[in-house]
Amino acid sequence: MAVIRSWVESANEGRTDFPLSNLPLGAFRHPDEGDRIGVAIGNQILDLYAAAQAGLLSGLDKRIIESCQHLWVDALMALGREASRTLRERLMELLSDESSRSRIEPLLVRQSNAEMLLPTRIGDYTDFYASVYHATNVGRLFRPDNPLLPNYKYVPIGYHGRASSIVVSGTEIQRPCGQTKAQDAAAPSFGPSRSLDYELEVGFFVGRENVLGQPIPIAEAESHIFGLCLLNDWSARDIQAWEYQPLGPFLAKNFATTISPWVVTLDALEPFRVPAFERQEGDPQPMPYLSADEDRARGGIDLKLEVWLRTKQMRAENAEPARLSRGNLRDLYWTPAQMLTHHASNGCNLQPGDLLGTGTVSGRSADSLGCLLEITRRGAELLQLPNGETRKFLEDGDEVIFRGCCEREGYARIGFGECRGVVKAAKNS
Ligand code: MN
Repeated sequence: MAVIRSWVESANEGRTDFPLSNLPLGAFRHPDEGDRIGVAIGNQILDLYAAAQAGLLSGLDKRIIESCQHLWVDALMALGREASRTLRERLMELLSDESSRSRIEPLLVRQSNAEMLLPTRIGDYTDFYASVYHATNVGRLFRPDNPLLPNYKYVPIGYHGRASSIVVSGTEIQRPCGQTKAQDAAAPSFGPSRSLDYELEVGFFVGRENVLGQPIPIAEAESHIFGLCLLNDWSARDIQAWEYQPLGPFLAKNFATTISPWVVTLDALEPFRVPAFERQEGDPQPMPYLSADEDRARGGIDLKLEVWLRTKQMRAENAEPARLSRGNLRDLYWTPAQMLTHHASNGCNLQPGDLLGTGTVSGRSADSLGCLLEITRRGAELLQLPNGETRKFLEDGDEVIFRGCCEREGYARIGFGECRGVVKAAKNS
């Protein structure tokens, strides 16, 4: 397949995250005009409000044109996959056709001049636990004799997170305070977490809603998924260890979740689809409501993920961040479609702009572990950094950076931008 070029030169450079075939959506603060939604193209943003006002979307369904003039991407998400595909086709035409250049170029905003905002209002947020490697590694730390609980291979495990503390990449993360109890202590104490961790995850946004009481069949699940972003589920392991039984994570997780600002659509990810996770012999097959031929054949996504750490000392020394791990979304035991269908299987309604996290993406190998809890075995081993520093968990001043990209011979590489955050000291500590 020939790679179509854009007249936006920066979109044709080999290492850009945002070639013409990506066109992820996001919300941004225009340097002069206020808040808008737009698509990323090379190092620029095409302002969709301005594009609609200028008549560049004329001929498209009125609801699509109207949704481009909202402050968030929710309204476009709500219209479903066909609507966003129609818009995508129009934008590809406008950004590749040299004759449109003079009309569109004035509507571009340099990404470096815009502040990125959360893409949707995120009414609800759910986090899954879809990596069997992560679940087994973590289970082993807490229950050495019984690492993987018997429900894991039957039911996609998740918990309801908190939407209000989801922040966009670049926002500082305050170390949380909470109750912790050392193993040999008689009673818990309250104070700053001493085991702050990141979790490498991917988020997916709900597009078209299902009404309350109406499950989503697995074969239709992807028509309800709009697109993906990177997600850091910051976690305080000491708070988590003390509070998690019997109801699961609570304050150890809901103090902050960071997402990357650009939502990469399933249409852009089309060339990078792969079969669902191959279950080991002896594993149960997914139950019928979680099984579909199409999902088995193409339910996975070959999305490469990386975690980088830059400490305060590295910044002072002007040193590059250190890569801590690399993983791949295809290592998940459950596909996004299975997670979504399971979530709605009891009739729970999922709404446009809701966010679902995959859970920590860890692979089989030692260099593909998606959190420090696994890398340092709950602080029992030291992580060595290239400049001689060591870590058990995150320290104040540490910056965690996630990157993700899809690559395939014959196609332009597409990237997700970055999901980053610096840890700052706890308050009143
Ligand atoms: Mn998580």
